[in-house]
Amino acid sequence: EAKAAGRNTFRFFSPDMQDVLDQIAMLETDLRHALVRRELLLHYQPIVNGDGSLAGVEALMRWQHPRRGLVYPGAFISQAEKSGLIVEFGEWALETACEQLVAWSRDAATEPLTIAVNVSARQFRQPEFTQRVLHILERTGANPRRLKLELTESMLLTDVDDLIRKMSQLKERGVGFSLDDFGTGYSSLSYLKKLPLDQLKIDRSFVQDMLLTPHASSIVRTIVSLAQSMGLQVVAEGVETAEQWAALRKIGCATFQGYLFGKPAAVEDIAAQFILRGEHHGRLPRQPQLALV
Ligand code: C2E
Ligand code: MG
Ligand code: MG
Ligand code: MG
Repeated sequence: EAKAAGRNTFRFFSPDMQDVLDQIAMLETDLRHALVRRELLLHYQPIVNGDGSLAGVEALMRWQHPRRGLVYPGAFISQAEKSGLIVEFGEWALETACEQLVAWSRDAATEPLTIAVNVSARQFRQPEFTQRVLHILERTGANPRRLKLELTESMLLTDVDDLIRKMSQLKERGVGFSLDDFGTGYSSLSYLKKLPLDQLKIDRSFVQDMLLTPHASSIVRTIVSLAQSMGLQVVAEGVETAEQWAALRKIGCATFQGYLFGKPAAVEDIAAQFILRGEHHGRLPRQPQLALV
């Protein structure tokens, strides 16, 4: 095909592929400006207890692109990782989440809420990662006990001693740790035992299949009992139906996240949905689908 383009011309890419490459180059240029142009924002998704009360939220990054509209992480995070921009983006997310914690600390109804922030492997690998997080906590005045960092199993593939050292330093100050998308990646159980974790998050692919295939359901059961035996909290991700919620509670899962409880949304929307005053504060609004359980 490349040769057919002409005797002296070597076209390595078809016009379609060139289009894609141009788009990636454009994305990267736009991405470089996203921070200074203040185009990044955080959405927050509720994480709830067994009784439906709000335990906290996960901060999820979005990019408000001037022409494309709201862009989701699937379309820009891997590019940000390749270019290294993820380090700055991640710090921005941490700082913004910490500022939100400070705003919530002023009200007794919202003070106990935690915010979980995703940390990329590249960001965590920075030699001064611990100092950077502590600096952000100091600068904002956020309570470290309300901050959770979500790590992925891919981080276990690099220097585990370094990982443990950094986690321990932050844990000493009260910061919590979650292992995200658990079950999808590489996880050596012997390493897992060494990590000062607080929480495992069951990947949503298992939750979504657990009522459809015995295989997925036994994986979910195994993760829950593994977490229990290690003294870790377990969060089921991607809970979309009341049936899944009921099945998870039956197995012994105590904390949940998913569209059933709320989609990621701007902080005002989360507050309006969940943080009601008076005796119902912190409770889920009564929804017919939830009343069935
Ligand atoms: P994640 O950390 O596993 O976050 C959960 C993802 O599942 C979110 O996708 C969320 O919107 C989606 N989700 C939650 N509940 C449901 C459900 O019931 N059904 C379905 N189908 N999906 C559900 P989102 O926001 O598109 O983020 C995708 C991934 O991007 C995140 O996965 C995380 O790995 C990454 N990410 C997001 N924000 C950041 C960030 O600030 N820094 C870094 N390094 N990565 C981030
Ligand atoms: Mg996460
Ligand atoms: Mg996850
Ligand atoms: Mg994920």
